[in-house]
Amino acid sequence: MVPERAWPLLLALRSLPGDGALIGEPRLHSVVVLAPHPDDESLGCGGTVALLRGRGASVRVAFATDGESTRGAALSADETRRRRRSEALAACGQLGVAAADVGFWGLPDGGLAASTHEIVPLIESAVAETRADGLFLPWFLDGHADHEALNAALASATLPPGLEVWGYETWSPLIANRIVDVSTVWARKEAAVAAHVTARLAFDVEATLGLNRWRSIHGLMGRGYAEAFLAAPIREYLATAVLARDLPSAAPRPAAPGPGAPRPSAPGPAAPGSAAPSGST
Ligand SMILES: [Zn+2]
Repeated sequence: MVPERAWPLLLALRSLPGDGALIGEPRLHSVVVLAPHPDDESLGCGGTVALLRGRGASVRVAFATDGESTRGAALSADETRRRRRSEALAACGQLGVAAADVGFWGLPDGGLAASTHEIVPLIESAVAETRADGLFLPWFLDGHADHEALNAALASATLPPGLEVWGYETWSPLIANRIVDVSTVWARKEAAVAAHVTARLAFDVEATLGLNRWRSIHGLMGRGYAEAFLAAPIREYLATAVLARDLPSAAPRPAAPGPGAPRPSAPGPAAPGSAAPSGST
């Protein structure tokens, strides 16, 4: 049964589709992809990145952490960090993103919720430097503290009002209002995911690719592969995120720090007991 207080959020999510086709490629010219950990970019929107690059759009990928807390890795944090950065570059290369367009912020894996003050200017700089018209990040209820922390930082950032935010899914399926058919670049997405060798010490990341098969039932009649997004102009996206934060099932979340006048707040760390791990991926 849906709690009564959840209805405003559900209605807001349903209203987001607005105009525009459910199925289609983003009409964006310059995109920033925020990945909390190496592999999120490939799992969440790798096919869409490959499509964007294929038609000449600029894509910059920023990795907030190096995934140095990878579970199951009998490696030092430094060695894990070194390997995962290398694998991230290889994955981006498969998607058509050159090393010069990949950034590593080096923030603590599992600790992004305490780093929002550092993340805010990094997001602002990445968008300003690339004159981005689109920003991709894990959606605000993805169910992982690091993933949701990027949304908290986004809420405190000063960004162009025309910026489109495309929330992608990794740990928790979202209510989609945009579906991108990635069938033609599927082999490249698979190769990008496969490049994240060290991430697979924690779990078989390829298991998440099943989500792309399932997403193809939306408009593709179950043939091929698709990535799903919750996309909206930044103001609308953040307004919905605030509703989500107020759900009674959410854990108490600290307000994201930010300069100047009060700004809307957004989700912080995931609730205790989340299915997602506290570290990467
Ligand atoms: Zn992640």
